[in-house]
Amino acid sequence: MDIFDKYETLAARRAELLGAGADPFDLEIEELFGPCEATIRGRRTILLGTNNYLGLTFDPACIEAGCAALRRFGTGTTGSRIANGTYGGHKALEAEIAAFMGRRAAIVFTTGYQANLATIAGLAGPKDTIFVDSDWHASIFDGCRLSGATVVRFRHNDPDDLDRRLERNPTPGGIRLVIVEGLYSMLGDVARLAEIAAVKKRHGAFLLLDEAHSMGVFGERGRGVAEALGVEAEIDFIVGTFSKSLGAIGGFAVSDHPRFELLRVAARPYMFTASPGPATIATVRAALAQIVARPELRARIWANAERIHAGLAALNFALAAPPGPILSIRLPDERTTVFAWNRLLELGVYVNLALPPGTPGGVCLLRCSVSAAHTDAQIDTVLERFATLAAELQRLAAPIAAE
Ligand code: PMP
Repeated sequence: MDIFDKYETLAARRAELLGAGADPFDLEIEELFGPCEATIRGRRTILLGTNNYLGLTFDPACIEAGCAALRRFGTGTTGSRIANGTYGGHKALEAEIAAFMGRRAAIVFTTGYQANLATIAGLAGPKDTIFVDSDWHASIFDGCRLSGATVVRFRHNDPDDLDRRLERNPTPGGIRLVIVEGLYSMLGDVARLAEIAAVKKRHGAFLLLDEAHSMGVFGERGRGVAEALGVEAEIDFIVGTFSKSLGAIGGFAVSDHPRFELLRVAARPYMFTASPGPATIATVRAALAQIVARPELRARIWANAERIHAGLAALNFALAAPPGPILSIRLPDERTTVFAWNRLLELGVYVNLALPPGTPGGVCLLRCSVSAAHTDAQIDTVLERFATLAAELQRLAAPIAAE
């Protein structure tokens, strides 16, 4: 038996996808022309699937800050936060994130993925129970596994189901931690946070919220969905990432809990990995300053989302959620979705191909994400190209609206 035999099904599925066109798992961005355009497979392509929500990856202030930090502090810290990897920049960023989020303390992690691993596995242990929304991101799933806690999944965005499960699992001798996301990354739907927070409060549980896709976009100050829905006081822990609105890489967790910083000596994915490099930290600090100074970026992403959503709806594409930073189109089956994804790429539009088992409820999606940096001209072009795709799908007699 070969060591890779266990991946036979995976390999067959990948080969099938490759037979239909480009490799969605190994697509090279060959050159970039700002945050929203690139060369892919030799073709000038508009990017509509990047999570670059505020378009800050090419912001001149962020680039300058990164270059200056690189010269002053070098290319990497070569160590973890608990050894040689804590620089002034990490501490300053933590203070700035805490102030931005309106919390007592913040901890910075090397990636958003590790922020979830560290926070979840640091907060919950084998005697505890985690109640998690069934549309969980892989980093939440892995954090739950690492914690050793009992894991109870509740129906997606269903506070009544959460209520029932909390009722049935009192967890004597342990704590109960509820985990949800502010904006769900696949379908782009928003958590029913007010109801979920009320349920957790009634049961005396803790609530952790992942604002990876919502920070910088939702709320008056851009703190996320909890701010937008006016329920920040009920959220015990918030996790976020630097890889989306902030245009870099890394993650964070914030809390008002007086003993929150104990995670620094308890959470293994914080302790046993190298800290984010100085240039990354500097770009994130500059990006955070941009979010504070330029609320028009938020206005712009919402205006762009409305326009793209309306344009796609007019073409009869089945959109999974109301206008927002994530606009996912449901298609009826895998073949149609793979065809549509490849066709869009040929037409010069990049979106995300999202297929089961990576999608909730086994749906097939073209996942589009909007940027504040998309220009009106880019949006017009994108919609023209989607119109071409819609006409072709109709000619192929493939219904574009999923049931
Ligand atoms: N949480 C959610 C909900 C995510 O979608 C992601 C990444 N897509 C992460 C956490 C992990 O963030 P990162 O990619 O910055 O590691």
